[in-house]
Amino acid sequence: MTEFFAHIDGKLAPNDAGSPKVQRNNREVLNLLTKRARTLHLGTANYCWFTDPSRALCLKLAGTPDAEKPLAGMCDSARCPQATHHPCHRPVWAEHAQQTTTFLGDLGPTGKIEKARLQADLDRAQRVLDAIDNDTIHEKE
Ligand code: SF4
Repeated sequence: MTEFFAHIDGKLAPNDAGSPKVQRNNREVLNLLTKRARTLHLGTANYCWFTDPSRALCLKLAGTPDAEKPLAGMCDSARCPQATHHPCHRPVWAEHAQQTTTFLGDLGPTGKIEKARLQADLDRAQRVLDAIDNDTIHEKE
């Protein structure tokens, strides 16, 4: 977000000199923010920055690479390069990790394939939690 707002500042700076351009600049800011708002999708487990459909994992999984909107129902944000995770998303991931740990503990000795799938899922959830925690710690420093 900081980089984005710096980008807006950079675009506005050359137009700031001279005549009354406050309204024009405000409109320009609104246009830039609106453009970005169309790409940002807020989810309970992540933010989706849908800037490049060709990089959207959900579209790849669905086989619809030319879609103009993300497919929230197919979202796999832990593996998608367009997703970001923030402290507000931590409870969802912590609950997911907890439930997956419980399922893993309940598996019998014959569930090797399911165990591998759940372990990979748990590892992804833990990586997201670690990333969120590391960012939180970094921001407090
Ligand atoms: S997988 Fe999730 S984060 Fe990635 S583009 Fe699709 S909806 Fe957005």
